[in-house]
Amino acid sequence: MNPTLIVRGARVLDPLVPQPRPPVRDIAISADRITAVEQNIPVPPGAKIVDAKDMLAIPGLVSAHYHSHDTLLKGCFAPMPLEAWLLHAVPPNYPQRSREEVRARVLIGALEALKSGITTLQDMATVHPFDPGEVDTIAQAYDDIGMRCVFALQVGDVPGSRPLPFWDELIPPELRGGATVTVRRGGSARELIERIEGERRRHIGRHPRMTWALGPATPEICSEEYLGLLADLSRRENLRVFCHVYESKGNTAIARNHYGADGGSLIRHLARVGLLNERFTLAHGVWLRQDEIEQVARAGAHVALNPSSNLKTGSGIAPVRAYIEAGVKLALGTDNSSCSDAQNMFQAMKLFALFAGEGGQKAFAAATVGGAEALGLADEIGRIAPGRKADITLLNLRDPAFVPLNDAVRQLVFTEAGRSVRHVIVDGRLVIEDGRATLLDEDALYAEVERLMPTLMRDLEAIRQRNAQLMPYVEQAHLRTMALDLGLDRYRTH
Ligand SMILES: [Zn+2]
Repeated sequence: MNPTLIVRGARVLDPLVPQPRPPVRDIAISADRITAVEQNIPVPPGAKIVDAKDMLAIPGLVSAHYHSHDTLLKGCFAPMPLEAWLLHAVPPNYPQRSREEVRARVLIGALEALKSGITTLQDMATVHPFDPGEVDTIAQAYDDIGMRCVFALQVGDVPGSRPLPFWDELIPPELRGGATVTVRRGGSARELIERIEGERRRHIGRHPRMTWALGPATPEICSEEYLGLLADLSRRENLRVFCHVYESKGNTAIARNHYGADGGSLIRHLARVGLLNERFTLAHGVWLRQDEIEQVARAGAHVALNPSSNLKTGSGIAPVRAYIEAGVKLALGTDNSSCSDAQNMFQAMKLFALFAGEGGQKAFAAATVGGAEALGLADEIGRIAPGRKADITLLNLRDPAFVPLNDAVRQLVFTEAGRSVRHVIVDGRLVIEDGRATLLDEDALYAEVERLMPTLMRDLEAIRQRNAQLMPYVEQAHLRTMALDLGLDRYRTH
């Protein structure tokens, strides 16, 4: 098949065999796939050429943990404990959003991601209250901007769960009702599964760059029956499962009490219900014990690390070195825009490398092939090679970050901040050209967001006021949780 797009003369960096000064190659693309990576590929008539002289071609970055639902809240919050932030940010605390706002927030998050070289997002989206029209709006927005997405509805089935130890003891009963970090719902576990599976089936084949996965929010807000049904569904339909696991010390303290039957181990609980396998990705994984890390490695499950949001929410530092030494499969995420607050894998890679004390290769691998594997797209994305999907980010090497070019990976991870991203190709389409989106009118989107913000800010203000009464108690619960001895300290790098 004749190439439709030729990327001409880029230095092509492979995450698995990265060279300090990668060789200059042409990349031929036919429709959505790479067909050749060679020197001097002839240009057939009609093919578009992207001049990539003095550019570095990297596989499109994969954010393996992300949420589209709060992208309009970036910059709204100072650092605060995870549980306090959840009370301000998760959708069940808000009135239902307009379709226009849902579309705008998906687009603005995806646009920020694309402009920093991310071509695939694992979006764990909370649709609250549940509404198929909102799912359609999200899928359409991803189609329109040209982003690849592994989509999971973030759903739990146990309402009213306590977010922190000491919650019931400390929070006055009259203040417990309004706020939630979890879910409000009606219906049985089986009904929820039918709804999730119904949505997936309704969308199959309609969105060329979207695949579906399952997203039990956190095990603590999911019944054993629901998790077991998800495990069956994952096995039957070969679906990936994404779940927040051991994110904060509070989560961990609750797990120790809650999962008595599994020795206080969330990991053993996940294994017992049938979820801990190669299709499963733990998001965060900050507070695992060594024996749990080894169990995750043996099961072939993935961990998607989110160093930036973990620091901003005071959740700690994931044991990256221990994961690497145990052979756990690692991916990287950018998490919520209101707790990280950037859709930027360069920040994530740098923190990964610094916490792991490694030279950048493992961080770059986690951000590309590691993410691809976690998302079930190991043969499709993550490398620039014939047969793979044409998801490519081109960075300008005529930039102080890369001059002189001593070591491409190290400079990509430790020096580059996202400024050099010039062109981004997803599925063989140039979706960012010279730093601007090609498939949507950026200025119209910015104006639309400005138009929508007064309503969102009014609702946020009401939530802040309601939470103001709660916060002193949450702070006390947090301090008492910090004082607990769980036999682990995740506030040190190693
Ligand atoms: Zn998350």
